[in-house]
Amino acid sequence: MGKNKQNFIIEDLEITDAGAEGICVGKYEGKVVFVSNVVPGDIIDAEVYKKKHAYYMARPLQIKVYSPQRETPKCEHFGICGGCKWQNMQYCYQLQYKQKQVFDNFSRIGKFPFPDILPILPSDKIYAYRNKIEYTFSDKRWLSFEEMDHKEDFNPNGLGFHLPGMFDKVLDIHYCHLHETVENDIRNSLKAFAVKNNIPFYNARSHEGLLRNLIIRHSVCGDLMVIIVFAYKDKYLSMIMDFLKVKFPQITALMYAINDKLNDSLNDICVQTYHGKDHLTEQMEDLFFKVAPQAFYQTNAQQAIKLYQTARQLANIQPKHIVYDLYTGTGTIALFVAKQAQKVVAVEYVASAVENAKENARLNHIDNAYFYVGDMAKIFTDEFIRQNGQPDVIITDPPRNGMHPDVVAQILKIKPQRIVYVSCNPATQARDIALMTNIYQVKVTQPVDMFPQTHHVENVCLLELKES
Ligand code: SAH
Repeated sequence: MGKNKQNFIIEDLEITDAGAEGICVGKYEGKVVFVSNVVPGDIIDAEVYKKKHAYYMARPLQIKVYSPQRETPKCEHFGICGGCKWQNMQYCYQLQYKQKQVFDNFSRIGKFPFPDILPILPSDKIYAYRNKIEYTFSDKRWLSFEEMDHKEDFNPNGLGFHLPGMFDKVLDIHYCHLHETVENDIRNSLKAFAVKNNIPFYNARSHEGLLRNLIIRHSVCGDLMVIIVFAYKDKYLSMIMDFLKVKFPQITALMYAINDKLNDSLNDICVQTYHGKDHLTEQMEDLFFKVAPQAFYQTNAQQAIKLYQTARQLANIQPKHIVYDLYTGTGTIALFVAKQAQKVVAVEYVASAVENAKENARLNHIDNAYFYVGDMAKIFTDEFIRQNGQPDVIITDPPRNGMHPDVVAQILKIKPQRIVYVSCNPATQARDIALMTNIYQVKVTQPVDMFPQTHHVENVCLLELKES
C-alpha cells in the first residue's frame, strides 16, 4: 500500500492505551506500536512506516471497530492541526489517561513509593479555555488535496497555526474552539481585510511580506488585547489598526510591533500601543495582576486558580515561615501565598517577568515578597540562602525539562520541611523527585487538567522531610 517497500500492514490491531505525547499504543508480536489519530478501544488496520528494535510507528489505514471512548471532534481542522490531538476522545477518558500518565511516570521513571494519586481536577471549561492564542500569517498556506486539484480557485494566503514539523507551512484557521467567538471574528475579519486590500502576507523562507503574527489575549476582568506584528513600518499599518479599532470597539489594548528579525520571538521587541491600554488586568481571588503584552500568564486562568489553591493548601504555610518560589515567572504563585508567610523569596531568569512581579507586588500592597533575576542553577547558592534565610517551604514550578541537578542538590542540602513541586511534565518531575526520596517522602499527588483536548497534564506533588 505505502510507497516505501519496508512498510507493512498489521490487521486488526487493538489500541489499548494513550501514551507519552498523546500518541496511542497497541501491541504486535511483542512490540509496542505507536499510532496517532486513534483512540484506545479502536480496532484498526495500521500501516507500519518505521521499524525500530523495540517498537513500530504506524498510521491508521482503516478503523474497523470504533471505540466507545470516541467523541466526534468539534473542530473542522482536527487531524491536520497539531493543537488538540485528543478531541476525538470523550473528556472523562482524557482525564483518565492524564491520571494514568502521572501514575506511569511515577512508577516507571520515579520508582519511589507514593500514596494513591488524588483524582485529577477537571477543567470547568473544556473548550474556549485559552486566554492567549498566537497566529502566523503566511503567503503559502498548507493546501488540502482537494484544493491542490482545483489550483485556480484558491488564495495562497493563510492566517493560522504552524503545522507540526513544518516551520513554513501554516494551516489557515476558520474557527478555533480553544478561544471565544469574538476572537475568531477578529482573526477572520483581519485576514479578509488584508486579502481584499492586497496587503502582503509574510514568507518564512524569503523573509518578505508585511504581516507576520497576530496575538490575541483576554483576561478574566474582560480586557481584550490584540497585537499585530509587522515585518517593517508601512502605510498599511495605520489602515489595519484603524480597521480593527472601528470594527471591534471591545478591544481594550490595541497594539503592534515591528519585527525585522528572522525569528518570531517578541521578547526582545518593543510592543507599541495604538489605542487603549498597554496591558491586561487579571484577577485571582482578591489579587490583581497587570500583565504586559509579552508577559507570561497561565493560559487557562480559571484552572490556574485551582492549581495555585492546591499548591497553597499543600504548602501549609505558617506566619513564621520563609517560603521560596522557584521559577516564579511573573510572580503569581509568590504573590498568591505571600499573605500566609513571613516572607517569600522568588527567582526567575526572565528580567521583564520579574519587573512585572515587582510591580504587581506593589499594586497589591504586598511588601514581603522579594524577587530575584537569575538562572536557578547559578543563583541558588549557599550565599543566597544565607542572605534570604533558610526556607521552611519551597514551591518549585520549573519548565518542561524539570530542575537542574544542581538545584535539586541544593534543595537536598538545605532540607526545607516541605516541598511543593508543580510540574507540567510528570516525566521530569518523577526523575527529579527520585533524586530526593532518600530524605523526602511523597505525601500527596494532585494532577490538575489545565489543557483539555490535549494530552498535557499539570501535576502538584507534596514532599515532606522524612523523620530522622
Ligand atoms: N510559576 C509561574 C511560571 C512557571 S513556568 C506561573 O505559575 O506562572 C516556568 C518559569 O521558569 C518560566 O517563567 C521560565 O522563564 C522560568 N525558567 C526557566 N528556566 C529557568 C532557569 N534556569 N532559571 C530561572 N527561571 C527559569
